[in-house]
Amino acid sequence: MSAILTFAEARDGRLRRASLETVSEARRLAGSLGASVVTVVIGPSTSSLAGELGSYGADRVFAFEDEALGSYATEAWARALAQVAAETKPKVVLFPFTSMGRDLAPRVAAKLDCGLASDCVRLEVKDGRLVARRPMYAGKAYATVEWAGEPQFASLRPNVFPLGAKDASRKAEVVKGQVDATSRAKATAIVAASQGKVQLTEAQIIVSGGRGLKGPENFHLVEELAAALGAAVGASRAVVDAGWVDHQMQVGQTGKTVSPTLYVACGISGAIQHLAGMSSSKFIVAVNKDADAPIFKVADYGVLGDVFEILPKLTEAAKAHFASRG
Ligand SMILES: Cc1cc2nc3c(=O)[nH]c(=O)nc-3n(C[C@H](O)[C@H](O)[C@H](O)COP(=O)(O)OP(=O)(O)OC[C@H]3O[C@@H](n4cnc5c(N)ncnc54)[C@H](O)[C@@H]3O)c2cc1C
Repeated sequence: MSAILTFAEARDGRLRRASLETVSEARRLAGSLGASVVTVVIGPSTSSLAGELGSYGADRVFAFEDEALGSYATEAWARALAQVAAETKPKVVLFPFTSMGRDLAPRVAAKLDCGLASDCVRLEVKDGRLVARRPMYAGKAYATVEWAGEPQFASLRPNVFPLGAKDASRKAEVVKGQVDATSRAKATAIVAASQGKVQLTEAQIIVSGGRGLKGPENFHLVEELAAALGAAVGASRAVVDAGWVDHQMQVGQTGKTVSPTLYVACGISGAIQHLAGMSSSKFIVAVNKDADAPIFKVADYGVLGDVFEILPKLTEAAKAHFASRG
């Protein structure tokens, strides 16, 4: 039986949601391709994650648990994935389009001399082969791509592919992997910048602020609305470049690509480079005082008004709504 190989990213002993979305999508495709789902997970004690991966559809989990693979290193991790690919000969290889997946997928694809379609938003099977839909020109257009050879490599935009139904009775076979863990580059320390906060790329709700907030002293209006909604906080590049907030909060072409259920853009004009990072959000709400702002062209709901007036009202309304629900 042929295989679909997926990479599962774990952080602090927990699987990233994007990894489970990737396994779920592999499971969905496996039926049409007549393939089994093989998942690779790397890091100490990661075989304990096989149960969860199995419940989302993995048939076999290769766990590389060497202590030397404890922190991410492209070279050694790519070697592990290429090794599993050589053993299982997959038709398709899927990665989540996370920072790690963005780094790893091209390296593994190059090792196997295969083509990669990155940041896919839809995958289908046609005549026994994969067909992908992915954005191009910073999200202005979508391309349908096919691969000339195999395996067909694709990375999946987080929050776009649905999680499959979890079935705790599904069990994955666990295979302990071993690989040469040496690497020419080594991480000496990892500093978590946003500990405890909602991860921007995996958040279901994001409230972002732009230059319309006028200055860093007003950014708390965005943060307060985000807190009331249980949302992550994002920003336009204009305010990142001005030093109001950290770069890791930037949404857009040169920042993070996000696809939350709800994206609230506050005082953001909607430049094409910003839209490139958020236009696949399911619902977009824009607050802007300029009726001609391009953000209104992609918004599902537009509030034409002043952020200084509207944001406190939205925050109060969100607080009252959640308080009334207990
Ligand atoms: C190569 C390249 C890459 C880029 N990458 C990115 C990227 O990744 N992400 C990104 O965001 N940008 C990116 N940019 C920058 C982008 O072109 C815009 O300059 C930027 O997005 C503008 O940010 P903004 O919307 O906050 O500011 P502005 O464009 O200045 O818009 C501010 C908006 O606030 C509104 N406003 C003003 N006052 C109020 C008020 N009181 N109440 C309500 N609304 C108000 C205005 O009407 C205006 O629409 C990139 C540019 C280049 C060239």
